[in-house]
Amino acid sequence: MTAPTYDMVDFDEVVEKFDPVLGLEVHVELSTRTKMFCGCSTEFGAEPNTQVCPTCLGLPGSLPVVNRSAVEAAIRIGLALNCSIAPWCRFARKNYFYPDMPKNFQTSQYDEPIAFDGYLDVVLDDGETFRVGIERAHMEEDTGKSLHVGGATGRIHGAEYSLLDYNRAGVPLIEIVTKMIPGTRERAPEIARAYVTALRDLVKSLGVSDVRMDQGSMRCDVNLSLSPRDSGILGTRSETKNVNSLRSVERAVRHEMSRQAGVLLGGGTVVQETRHFLEDTASTRPGRRKETSEDYRYFPEPDLVPIAPPAEWVEELRGTMPELPWARRARLQQEWQLSDAELRDLVNAGALDLIEQTVAAGAPAGDARGWWVAYLTQQANAREVALDELPITPAQVARVIALVGSGELTNKLAREAVDGVLAGEGGPGPDGVDAVVAARGLAVVSDEGELVAAVDAALAAQPDVADKIRGGKVAAAGAIVGAVMKATGGKADAKRVRELVIERCS
Ligand code: ZN
Ligand code: MN
Repeated sequence: MTAPTYDMVDFDEVVEKFDPVLGLEVHVELSTRTKMFCGCSTEFGAEPNTQVCPTCLGLPGSLPVVNRSAVEAAIRIGLALNCSIAPWCRFARKNYFYPDMPKNFQTSQYDEPIAFDGYLDVVLDDGETFRVGIERAHMEEDTGKSLHVGGATGRIHGAEYSLLDYNRAGVPLIEIVTKMIPGTRERAPEIARAYVTALRDLVKSLGVSDVRMDQGSMRCDVNLSLSPRDSGILGTRSETKNVNSLRSVERAVRHEMSRQAGVLLGGGTVVQETRHFLEDTASTRPGRRKETSEDYRYFPEPDLVPIAPPAEWVEELRGTMPELPWARRARLQQEWQLSDAELRDLVNAGALDLIEQTVAAGAPAGDARGWWVAYLTQQANAREVALDELPITPAQVARVIALVGSGELTNKLAREAVDGVLAGEGGPGPDGVDAVVAARGLAVVSDEGELVAAVDAALAAQPDVADKIRGGKVAAAGAIVGAVMKATGGKADAKRVRELVIERCS
């Protein structure tokens, strides 16, 4: 029997007939030096199975020991999410079999998470704030990695054989689970993206993870169900796993809304299942039917003592929180004198960090902002990459700004120098900019003798214009300035040339 197929429903119609209910689960890989329950290194990219020991391989007789830094990071994340911190909690075994999990259970937390009942205020594109409730943040460990070889898709189906790398098995994870998020209506896709963005920025500011979605150190599962509009009756949810970019989070929500509406309006029932997000078509395909928590046969982990963080420790961590993203934004807005809209544009463009680093490298804030939001944004758009993916560093941008400031480059020449850096010329440091300037011959002609000669030549070539200037028609100087700029390949300081033209005609 083949499953019936249903049409996708137009997004506007979905919103007219249904209320989406969102839930988001985010896994964050901590950047601790060692794993959650053993002393193995967490360094990324090592030879497969070189960072393993009896504990993270689940060998009989091995015993886990909790990583204190991971607990500290979990508490910091909990505090930043306005959660209560449990004075006493335990680990639990989540039992299931999968080849990349050698113990046959994941050491996680179940009904006793370390942090619970918080919220995160999320700023939307139009500046409005939406509060997302946080159910819990709990500690657990990552699994290993399977590599399926020989098939066309990289999936296990059709593969000839599979390889397993346990280096990642046991790396500390924090799983952050939202409460059900109702009332998002047509903004559900945007709110999902904005929440994950805000969470990423928050965790990054705490310095406990590098939160790279593209590298898997932050992974998002999107839960979504539809209720008949204004009925308050909860629908069956699907869970789309491992959505690995901010844009995909938004697209996965949008897709599931249209797909589920199609099933419901077509007389079908939504199945509770996990689904996989397909990056190329922005759609989802079914995975396994969803287990319920009974299937995991959770029970308290007998090999680990409970975690009971002393209140003084929690208060000490609360007192040493770094500047959180919203406080930093407020500070930068004041320092750089930005309107709300200007600040929001910088945040949305992902330019805030880049500008701040450019300023830290010595550039005036206005210039730093100008380069990142204008020319560099154009270049990023042309290449269809994010601003921070451009192959130019804030220090290099600061160097360009310094060369313009000292008169060694005009704005036009500076853009050419940036083009060179973006094309991979000159080398990675700020002196890479100087190398491009030298190699492309971009430096402003500052040799006064050379400039005077060029001015004289231009005056001689256009004697009628020269006469006008001599007769007091200073406006005519523009033609001569233009000729000199052309003769020097745009490498003269136009202001200085103008002064020289007037000088030579008086
Ligand atoms: Zn180990
Ligand atoms: Mn988990």
